[in-house]
Amino acid sequence: AKKLGKNNYQFFTPEMNSAAQHYLKLEHHLRQALELGELVLHYQPQVKIDNGCIIGMEALIRWHNHAMGIVMPDQFIGLAEETGLIVPIGAWVLRTACKQARAWQLAGMPIRIAVNLSGRQFHRFQDQRQLLDVVLDVLKETELSPELLELEITESILMHKLDTTLDTLNQIKQLGVRISVDDFGTGYSSLSYLKRFPLDTLKIDKSFVKDICTDANDRAIVSAISAMAGQLKLELVAEGVEDQSQLDFLGGQQCNYGQGYFFSKPVPAEQASALLRQSLLG
Ligand code: C2E
Ligand code: CA
Ligand code: CA
Ligand code: CA
Repeated sequence: AKKLGKNNYQFFTPEMNSAAQHYLKLEHHLRQALELGELVLHYQPQVKIDNGCIIGMEALIRWHNHAMGIVMPDQFIGLAEETGLIVPIGAWVLRTACKQARAWQLAGMPIRIAVNLSGRQFHRFQDQRQLLDVVLDVLKETELSPELLELEITESILMHKLDTTLDTLNQIKQLGVRISVDDFGTGYSSLSYLKRFPLDTLKIDKSFVKDICTDANDRAIVSAISAMAGQLKLELVAEGVEDQSQLDFLGGQQCNYGQGYFFSKPVPAEQASALLRQSLLG
């Protein structure tokens, strides 16, 4: 036990100790993951609901560790943010995703690539004035058309350091890059932000889509978001679409795009290419 002060002798319980050990092990391995080439991107289609065509792919990171097996992003993105490793990892994700999108563009399949940018990642970059530089570098290096890149940010990004955030997003927007708000509806951003920031797309969080067929509140929320997005001329993507009946409801709203297991799980690049060829080239 570590003595932190009066009555605090129990600070490290055995459970916490093993959790801490797990974390240390994870951090140790994560530091080497980039060099060892253990990170991979999977891609999940974003589909136009009325004709079923793929219009974009979201890049989702996976970590194939030699000792721990496949580690999902929810298990290591937080750690990457805390340690600052999210900066090189985020740059790798952006570069890899844009390279892939450029390859698809050259193959006659010019679809959008959506890349996630977590809140802490955004602000770490921003503090270091790196975010814009990285985006510029990657676009130059990969020669991807900027309008084929969409950055997925969270509502929380819109609520901190308003002025610098607005600056950064405007600069990114001026490059021609698209900006979308991920997990929309789960944060606490005020709706006026939707007008103030240079946004292109809202992604309705999958928690609202899940019970859309049975839960009247969820239906009301999705209807309201759809109507609002239409008024604000924002594109709308429903996340977590898993079956036809959810799709039917969404199609009846002004929600034009869907993403979810119903269309495809996130898949490795080669499989994603096959899906694209099927969708776009017949
Ligand atoms: P997200 O951006 O909201 O991504 C959607 C998550 O929902 C993905 O989980 C995806 O596999 C999952 N999903 C897709 N369709 C369905 C569906 O129909 N039903 C259900 N139940 N789930 C579905 P994943 O890949 O485990 O990623 C989790 C989160 O990790 C992402 O949530 C994102 O916040 C973060 N993440 C993933 N890749 C990156 C990355 O490259 N950078 C950063 N900063 N964060 C990332
Ligand atoms: Ca996302
Ligand atoms: Ca999401
Ligand atoms: Ca999420």
